[in-house]
Amino acid sequence: MAEPLPISAVARVLVGSKSVYMTVHQRPDGDALGAQLSMALTLGKMGIKIYMANEDSVPEKYLYMPLSKRIISHNPAALKRLPAQFDTALVIECASLKRAGITGAIARRARNIINLDHHLGNTNYGTYNLVDTSSPAVVLLADALREVMGAPLTRDIAVNLYTGIYTETGGFRYSNTTPEVLRFASRLIEAGVDPRWIGEQVYEKAPLRHHKLLARALNSLYVRDGVSWMTITCKDMAETHARDEDMEDFIEHARSIKGIRVAVFMRETAKGGIRTSFRSKSGIPVNKVAEKFGGGGHVYAAGATLEGVSLEEARRLIGSAIRSQARGESRRS
Ligand code: 5GP
Ligand code: MN
Repeated sequence: MAEPLPISAVARVLVGSKSVYMTVHQRPDGDALGAQLSMALTLGKMGIKIYMANEDSVPEKYLYMPLSKRIISHNPAALKRLPAQFDTALVIECASLKRAGITGAIARRARNIINLDHHLGNTNYGTYNLVDTSSPAVVLLADALREVMGAPLTRDIAVNLYTGIYTETGGFRYSNTTPEVLRFASRLIEAGVDPRWIGEQVYEKAPLRHHKLLARALNSLYVRDGVSWMTITCKDMAETHARDEDMEDFIEHARSIKGIRVAVFMRETAKGGIRTSFRSKSGIPVNKVAEKFGGGGHVYAAGATLEGVSLEEARRLIGSAIRSQARGESRRS
């Protein structure tokens, strides 16, 4: 594996490519899509052939993002039509190639893999690794690449980048809202982004089924020993006709309770696992908790999937992992 590289070297690899394949992690979020689509617009303008495929579809609310309809997902025939080789694969926000699922494996067909990420625990699997764990969002890294390439910041690119920084900071509220982030956002607004319009697309256009499912999630909520717990079962999903993407922001409600240190959101998946999101408000590093179950993420936001356990078992295992992590932290401080 190669060492991490400066941005200019990665930019040279991209600009020197005739074809670039791009993919992001499963259940894509605004930040990953923002980086993918802004890079696709930038490289596409340079005459480079772009292919985008993600394991999971673009959530409906993000379909306003320019070029989002070009992303292949859930389409085996379209995946089969992808070229047998690419010059470069740009893998975005994947701590390991496994995080991109089946579309991650396709990246191996490329001569070079560029690993673009800001997550802790990245395994540096790329031929080139542009991994900056101090970066508040991966769209900042994508924009730094654009700038080094000397490519213009168009309105469409700015809309994608703004979506990334806006959602990744929870609407400029989380601890990753730095002066650099707000300067970045202000440059994007100058480039033509309408923050009110994007706010409406992302947070004010949920389908009714989202609210019906949220009612069930809120009903399940309880707090014990500084940890808030929220659950959704397969039955809840079936009865409200909801989709996975309807739950993206549910953990916010568990996180926004006074006095809690950690929020946990667990949902049964159709495949029989328990998909779990963690948020920390107290310095307990939830990425360490997630790593115990094969997941990962950031100190304050992480996730994992527990296979082959019931909700009750998952609750017990996770509760004990959080307690032991909290004990470890209090010993250190
Ligand atoms: P969320 O709870 O919103 O799905 O994810 C929170 C953060 O943890 C995101 O930065 C996400 O990329 C990361 N994350 C979520 N699930 C996993 C996982 O299974 N593995 C790893 N490595 N990171 C994850
Ligand atoms: Mn991110």
